[in-house]
Amino acid sequence: MRILTIAVFACASLVASPTTANAESASFGIPWRIPLVRLSKHFGRDAMKGFLRPLVHGYIEFMRDVALKDAQPLTTAEKKHLAEFFPLRLIDRVRVTLLGVAGLGNSSAGAAAYGPDLIVVKRGHRTLAVLKHEMVHICQYDKLGIAAFAQRYAEQLVDTDFVYGKVPFEVEAHRFTASGRGRFSGILGSCE
Ligand SMILES: [Zn+2]
Repeated sequence: MRILTIAVFACASLVASPTTANAESASFGIPWRIPLVRLSKHFGRDAMKGFLRPLVHGYIEFMRDVALKDAQPLTTAEKKHLAEFFPLRLIDRVRVTLLGVAGLGNSSAGAAAYGPDLIVVKRGHRTLAVLKHEMVHICQYDKLGIAAFAQRYAEQLVDTDFVYGKVPFEVEAHRFTASGRGRFSGILGSCE
């Protein structure tokens, strides 16, 4: 039970931080990475993935319950900027909620996407670059669905030993955010 409790809180922290544009330079999952890696070594990666898949999915659904009801559309200026890279069908559907923290247990998280239509932004961190990063995750959700996104993200966390900068979904988001121009569909193969 204690292990499960640790895993629940660790997961809450992790899910919040990985989709954060400004966490790249911070130690990923700050207090949680080392115990999670130890758990992964103790139980094995397959067992760790078994823990994390439902936890990540559950946390995404929890955040949707918390944040979706007060969420608002992107601004006209944000939509105009993002339309260069992403389809209007998603841009018009996305809602944004500002919270004191973007993720439970990780105050460094600047933003996170929770599903194909919801971005949570930490107050003071709402920039076009942050939103562009999160829109990549919106496209990933759009392609996979919430359940499969959560499963893949959990597996990627375990496979990278919880190093945020190596998680493939994050690498994709960081590279595209830094790339400057072009349609994301050219990289993802969908999201138009
Ligand atoms: Zn991200």
